[in-house]
Amino acid sequence: MPKTFKKVLVANRGEIAVRVMRTLREMGIASTAIYSDVDRAALHVRVADEAYPIGPAAASESYLRIDKVVDTAKKAGCDAIHPGYGFLSENADFVDACERAGITFIGPPASAMRNMGSKTAARKRMADAGVPIVPGAMCDTTDEAIAASNKIGYPVMLKASAGGGGKGIRLVNAASEMASAWERARSEAKKFFGDDTVYIEKAILTPRHVEIQVLGDRDGNLVHVFERDCSIQRRNQKVVEETPSPAASRELVAKMGEIAVKGAKAVGYFSAGTFEFLLAPDGAFYFLEMNTRLQVEHPVTELVTGLDLVREMVLIAQGEKLGFAQSDLETRGAAIECRIYAEDPASGFLPSPGKIESLVTPAGPGIRDDGGAYPGCVISSFYDPLISKLSVWAPTRERAVARMRRALSEYIVTGIRTNLAFHEKLFAHPDFVAGRYDTGFLDRHHDVLLGYATVPAEHREKVAVAVALAAARMERATGAKEAVTGEKGARLTPWVAAHRSNMLRR
Ligand code: ADP
Ligand code: ADP
Ligand code: MG
Repeated sequence: MPKTFKKVLVANRGEIAVRVMRTLREMGIASTAIYSDVDRAALHVRVADEAYPIGPAAASESYLRIDKVVDTAKKAGCDAIHPGYGFLSENADFVDACERAGITFIGPPASAMRNMGSKTAARKRMADAGVPIVPGAMCDTTDEAIAASNKIGYPVMLKASAGGGGKGIRLVNAASEMASAWERARSEAKKFFGDDTVYIEKAILTPRHVEIQVLGDRDGNLVHVFERDCSIQRRNQKVVEETPSPAASRELVAKMGEIAVKGAKAVGYFSAGTFEFLLAPDGAFYFLEMNTRLQVEHPVTELVTGLDLVREMVLIAQGEKLGFAQSDLETRGAAIECRIYAEDPASGFLPSPGKIESLVTPAGPGIRDDGGAYPGCVISSFYDPLISKLSVWAPTRERAVARMRRALSEYIVTGIRTNLAFHEKLFAHPDFVAGRYDTGFLDRHHDVLLGYATVPAEHREKVAVAVALAAARMERATGAKEAVTGEKGARLTPWVAAHRSNMLRR
């Protein structure tokens, strides 16, 4: 018998906690927030129905504390927990702890998480299930690694079995580089993931990262919800994602989808999950890993399918059957997402934490902003510096690109540095506009995409704030009160003045 949740604890922070709470509210379910000491005034705390402190700023003492999170859910009388992404979302022990406390985990079963959690174990599982994997090898010593790589053929990738978030991946071009790369990869893996297991994969050259969303209920019904192309990456971490993939035919997507469903069935999967693949230029594709959680870039899938993936996760956790079959699903138009980060492109994209002085997010047709910030809030140095995910939908990719440019031009953040101007440059690049890119695109075009206008910070901020406010105040701030008459006596608007003078090229 399906149950109905009355109150759900969201075991996360930032934009994803806010996003989950929005759906809960639409479903008439109360939401409970948890927060660390530095998140007392965070947006997710403000939009929840209630909020509980769970400890100091360091995630290891708050958001990652299984005992505290579960105790809070019990104390608050929650029926279920949604983990978001990151933090405890892929922690099978957390799922077990929820279950033991009589609280439903809104996600996959712990067993599927255990099967897919380690990349090496997942590769084996998937190979057995008939899913194509990247050629690779497990090795214990440098000599074994060299022998295996000679067989596989250079370049190869050294990857941390427990890795994630683009960390713990290292390219090795020749046998002479292996010894030092192997040792460093192992010690990094130990440091970041507490597990020094490193394995070898053939490096696929100029691939696209194309992933398949899957969705399944507890009765074993499983569908795929098409693909997302996440090839715009910096240091193996996604920056822009879109669907449909400009590189994959509908037939190819159907085939990848079928294989993803087969892989999901092999581990008894239910809830939302993602099969990540590398798509080689020759059309061959290889399983990379499965993310057993809601994906950061899920909004683009929602925009082209009309599904609310968080709602589906909640219904599935309540024990309901999927309300549709594979043949009921279709996509419409094109959607693109930009990750807007508090980081400074001029200093190698180092995080740029601090107080957001003013914040104006774009609106209008086809725009969705999944944000976790507000004017006056502080982007903390303790967590991921994601400010928001800006997504657009349009009937065609061409129009989606134009729409994203318009959206970016309306987006104003002052007080801290952001990667907004970087996105603007990217969306003007002819190869990106044409959909011609692979996972190495950002690295190859780094310099072009970094060309910045040098505007003094005070000036830029003044103008940026002004553009966001009423015309009179704008004129005062720009000092452009009278000198704004354009052609045929038309007034040059503050928006045009600001953009022409390049003052908003942050
Ligand atoms: P997605 O795979 O959904 O596109 P990312 O790879 O950007 O998302 O990861 C989402 C978030 O989860 C990031 O904040 C990242 O740092 C974190 N994350 C993902 N995998 C791991 C992991 N294995 N260990 C620690 N953090 C992780
Ligand atoms: P993470 O858990 O950090 O997300 P993934 O295995 O999903 O790690 O890989 C992240 C990214 O690293 C991929 O999208 C791709 O750009 C690059 N990558 C990983 N493995 C390979 C490979 N064998 N060949 C080429 N690129 C790879
Ligand atoms: Mg990945």
